[in-house]
Amino acid sequence: MKPIHEQGVAELAQAIAEGQTSSVEAAQHLLERAKQHQHLGAWLAFDEDATLAQAKAADARIAAGERTPLLGVPMAHKDIFVTRDFPTTAGSKMLEGYRSPFDATVVSRLAQAGAVTLGKLNCDEFAMGGSNQNSAYGPARNPWHTDHVPGGSSGGTAVAVAARLLPAATGTDTGGSIRQPASFCGVTGIKPTYGRCSRYGMVAFASSLDQAGPMARSAADCATLLTAMAGPDIDRDSTSLDHPAEDYARLLGQPWQAGASTAQPLKGLRIGLPQEFFGDGVAADVIAPVRAALAELEKLGATLVDVSLPRTELAIPVYYIIAPAEASSNLSRFDGVKFGHRAARYDDLLDMYKKSRSEGFGPEVQRRIMIGTYVLSHGYYDAYYLKAQQIRRLIAQDFQQAFAQCDVIAGPAAPTVAWKIGEKADDPVANYLADIFTLPGSLAGLPGMSVPAGFGAGGLPVGLQLLGNYLKEAELLQVAHAFQQATDWHTQSPEGF
Ligand code: GLN
Repeated sequence: MKPIHEQGVAELAQAIAEGQTSSVEAAQHLLERAKQHQHLGAWLAFDEDATLAQAKAADARIAAGERTPLLGVPMAHKDIFVTRDFPTTAGSKMLEGYRSPFDATVVSRLAQAGAVTLGKLNCDEFAMGGSNQNSAYGPARNPWHTDHVPGGSSGGTAVAVAARLLPAATGTDTGGSIRQPASFCGVTGIKPTYGRCSRYGMVAFASSLDQAGPMARSAADCATLLTAMAGPDIDRDSTSLDHPAEDYARLLGQPWQAGASTAQPLKGLRIGLPQEFFGDGVAADVIAPVRAALAELEKLGATLVDVSLPRTELAIPVYYIIAPAEASSNLSRFDGVKFGHRAARYDDLLDMYKKSRSEGFGPEVQRRIMIGTYVLSHGYYDAYYLKAQQIRRLIAQDFQQAFAQCDVIAGPAAPTVAWKIGEKADDPVANYLADIFTLPGSLAGLPGMSVPAGFGAGGLPVGLQLLGNYLKEAELLQVAHAFQQATDWHTQSPEGF
């Protein structure tokens, strides 16, 4: 048997089911490994007793004859999901020491499916950021080059999967926070259609955009996790899609069209390449592996077609109005009374609010609360917020026009490889600009993936972004899986891990 940490979800579940190892043994091995690699900054919380109790319960289910694809498999959650067994901070001092009385729906569904929680993973504060440098608990480090960022906001998740600390973990994506760190760390991640995964128990950032999704080494493992995580939860999340649960692995290994040869499983697939995703703004060391991946997909039978998403550039100002607007409203609950840190000294109520929020929130979160409050204020609402919502609708329409000509859209997930820790740290706009390729799909609410596609400068990973039309997760995973059957980018691990 391969060492436990080298096994993906499917392999590990099988080894546990066949008794080659146990869930307890796997959890202990990975807890040990987590401690060895603390310097990566991936983790925010452990509770060995809670983890081992969950693992023992999984082993008992196996002994009783139960078999499910995740039974006994250790994984972990981005610290945005509330958990009963572990503290939840959302990467913020505001929630230091907070313990939720309930589990997020995504957490409880994965537990029902038999997954065991190893701990909580680092992230940008309230998921605001794309480098994990906005975490109040310090940065996470890219295992491919530890002086570089892992991306964000699901940085800890990407690091843990890339460094073989975990076979899989959860993330959330509001404007790219699954796809971009997956790209930067060379792992596979999928953000489903808005509404597929319940937002119940996800600390809210921008409610009309927030979506949960899995990150793992392969598309096949992501499909297994998503099947357990997704599904309607309409009593607890009013934006949950009332659409039956699906088996997201159902198309894996199937040809795109019936009767296709095994050498060309993607025959009939039309991949749209938005011209705006291949312009001057993309680094040459990113474009080269993306083009090579597209050539590989052509070999597998796909046809490339040129499409246009003419409002791509507008996605940045539109997102950076809508997301802060929603954040400023969502974060009002952290007032030192209902939720969150309360300052030790204050004069009166207003002073208590001011001091508590100034101490609890980091600079990027404060910046976004101010932007959001401004764009929602009387007199500016129409000019900014309403205008942004109108353009958001047009961006979604552009995608529908593109999907009239193609089945999936492909391009880079990010314009560059991972930058150095410290770089862009004092330049919020430089960070915002780096989100250009993930924001359009987020604003439209579409499903999207990042799939490892090679390496750029400095040996840092590059991800191929795949975007599908609404509810087409199974098709996206089918395409990604076919690509991964023909390539080995997703099986490579950084040196020393
Ligand atoms: N980088 C984007 C931001 O800073 C997206 C974050 C996210 O998807 N949570 O808002």
